[in-house]
Amino acid sequence: MMKIARFTFNPIAENTYVVWDETDTPGPAGTLHEAAVIDAGNSSPAENRILDAFFAENGLRPVVAVNTHGHFDHAMGVGHLKQTYDIPFAASSADAFLLENAATSAGLFGMQVAELPPIDIDLADRDSISFGGITLQIIPTPGHTPGHVCLFEPVSRVLFTGDTLFADTIGRTDLPGGDYSWIMRSIIEQILPLGGDVQVFPGHGRDTTIGHEAANNPFITEVLDQQ
Ligand SMILES: [Zn+2]
Repeated sequence: MMKIARFTFNPIAENTYVVWDETDTPGPAGTLHEAAVIDAGNSSPAENRILDAFFAENGLRPVVAVNTHGHFDHAMGVGHLKQTYDIPFAASSADAFLLENAATSAGLFGMQVAELPPIDIDLADRDSISFGGITLQIIPTPGHTPGHVCLFEPVSRVLFTGDTLFADTIGRTDLPGGDYSWIMRSIIEQILPLGGDVQVFPGHGRDTTIGHEAANNPFITEVLDQQ
């Protein structure tokens, strides 16, 4: 059974998720549960300490930082995780240009961001990523960014949608590499078929379900009404 903890970090109020299960994994620091950090947006020593304390209190060993996309507000905490836990950074190489331009992009939002780490595991080459007893399926959903992926856990039927799909809205497509027709195609063809019962945990704001969005999200109903 996958467990999920949400933290809302940095001035852009980005959702960082820690996911794990009860699988015991022995290691030098004792027997712990392997965890992944999805979209690490921790941006200050205080936010770093919140994450580090959560790992320690719950007996977690972070083993990968995995990203839905390369925007700085979703990746500015990866450096701390790599430094502290020596873990790989997984993201799509199609978003590498965004990671490389993070300082400039952050400046447009009035924020300062240190250089972001390079990608260690290219999600453009993979169908899934596993840790503990959990496998997250990689679902390409370009549109908000060219390399955006959603992460689907089929046992708990949970989908991490990053900035593709939010409760009652969708991600913006006016930033570099964004494309409105692609984000709508990704939502209609890749996300909706997963099923209405699937729980959606987005990169900003509250969680929702695919069923609620298919019936109420105005961007989706506009397209479905035309079909
Ligand atoms: Zn974004």
